[in-house]
Amino acid sequence: MVKETGYYDTLGVKPDATPDEIKKAYRKLALKYHPDKNPNEGEKFKLISQAYEVLSDPKKRDLYDQGGEQAIKEGGLSGGNFSSPMDIFDVFFGGGGRMNREKRGNLKCKNVVHQLSISLEELYNGGSRKLALQKNVICDKCEGRGGKKGAVEKCSTCKGRGVQIHVQQIGPGMVQQIQTMCSECRGEGERINPKDRCKQCNGNKVVREKKILEVHLKKGMKDGQKIVFHGEGDQEPGLEAGDVVIVLDQRDHDLYQRQDDNLIMKMEITLVEALCGFKRTIETMDGRTLLITSLPGEVVKDGHLKCIQNEGMPLQRDPFERGLLIIQFSVTFPENHWLPTDKLRLLEALLPPREDIMVTDDMEAVELVEFDPREHNRQYRGEAYCEDERPRGGVQCQTS
Ligand SMILES: [Zn+2]
Ligand SMILES: [Zn+2]
Repeated sequence: MVKETGYYDTLGVKPDATPDEIKKAYRKLALKYHPDKNPNEGEKFKLISQAYEVLSDPKKRDLYDQGGEQAIKEGGLSGGNFSSPMDIFDVFFGGGGRMNREKRGNLKCKNVVHQLSISLEELYNGGSRKLALQKNVICDKCEGRGGKKGAVEKCSTCKGRGVQIHVQQIGPGMVQQIQTMCSECRGEGERINPKDRCKQCNGNKVVREKKILEVHLKKGMKDGQKIVFHGEGDQEPGLEAGDVVIVLDQRDHDLYQRQDDNLIMKMEITLVEALCGFKRTIETMDGRTLLITSLPGEVVKDGHLKCIQNEGMPLQRDPFERGLLIIQFSVTFPENHWLPTDKLRLLEALLPPREDIMVTDDMEAVELVEFDPREHNRQYRGEAYCEDERPRGGVQCQTS
């Protein structure tokens, strides 16, 4: 039982979420609320990053589960000094801040991160997807100068420094110098005479252009995997072009769930199939039909797991090999009174014998009735229930 669920709620996951689920939830939200896409949601982006910073670190998560936000702030571990949300984002997505300074000392434009929604079938079969992006490219008419050759002149307002200095009196005999970005040249130190401005880019040196990227999906690629297009991001004069980073986001599949290179599916069988054998078919994601057989006499129990070799996901390093297809069986039992009571004797004679108990006078005969967790919700909301593991099926613990 965790002390509070705030960070989990922020990411929209349950307190028992796996590290993978937490990662996936962060990925979706961080891209959605990134200031580039959602400039008004800066605060939300910060909260998401903070929650992820704590929950993605087993030690911090443990501390949070036991002591809540207070424990994190009082700071056994982080001292409450959260990293910048942008840093967390960059570590996660391999993006870049405003600009990256490369090892060689070149300045590079910011990377752009895009999420690409894909189906499990696409990851199974491979293929390619076209993605339309808008990006800044250097204006070809003025070659990124913003105007005619020689049209660039030193900004007269700031004398080329890019900043303006204001002197402000803050008390008797005390002045303060305030430095602000030059409003005339927007900090660039140079300006272009309006009449010499490039007509195509309006003096901006870059123009917006639509670009189609073809994303090749290799068989066996994974949810969250990044595909980097080097130099396909924004361009700016004097800077190395940024990268486009595509993050794959796999949609849930109706039948199959992926776990690494294995696929897991659920199969419902009837009691007669469970006891007397069956044949069933399974449609694969490349259009084949598999036939499975459980022989008469083999008993398949509820929850039983079986697997088929080499029918899972293709391996990325060798697409001719695949993981396992794991089938989890659930047995559906007949409804009440499906068989007249007098016929039950016949069935009983065929089944393994049951153990009879000796009924004695000191025993109390009590009534067994149906239990509906929703109806009893209020009654069981107390602490006695919360101390233990929560029962499946809707009983929720209230945290106050
Ligand atoms: Zn200026
Ligand atoms: Zn131009």
